[in-house]
Amino acid sequence: MFYPGTDTNPYTGIFNPAFEDAYDRLTGNETCCKFFGPGAVDTLQRARWSFQALGRPIKLANGGYSSVGASTFPEGLGAVFINSQGPFINPTHTLVLAPGRPFVDLSGGMSDVDARALIILHELGHLTGMFGPDTGKFAYYNKFFTGLVRTNCFQ
Ligand SMILES: [Zn+2]
Repeated sequence: MFYPGTDTNPYTGIFNPAFEDAYDRLTGNETCCKFFGPGAVDTLQRARWSFQALGRPIKLANGGYSSVGASTFPEGLGAVFINSQGPFINPTHTLVLAPGRPFVDLSGGMSDVDARALIILHELGHLTGMFGPDTGKFAYYNKFFTGLVRTNCFQ
């Protein structure tokens, strides 16, 4: 099982419980297992997970907010950069950024660990090729994919 670093990595303490949560759902939740398919556990474990500064949440022209949770490069063994300035680090803070209008609305009400596991499993969908692009002109799909993961793995 790959972790982003040793105990000296400042992100290990928040990544590992979330990774365990994602792993447990992928292996122990029948609906989640079927949704991702048999090869997904291997993909989860073989991917290279690390943290990068990918930008703080920004306010959009329509009054909403946008925040990058992580970015995945599925080529080769697959690399996932988790945004060290985004909702993975502080899901609760991100959710209340716009009072009454949470922009990560599909994560609403989840524990921090579950919200982080949701991000990990969303990225797993990109690693396996189940999920296509969901940035730029495809940004609409981002919440759709997150909703699929939430429905199949968190209920
Ligand atoms: Zn995505």
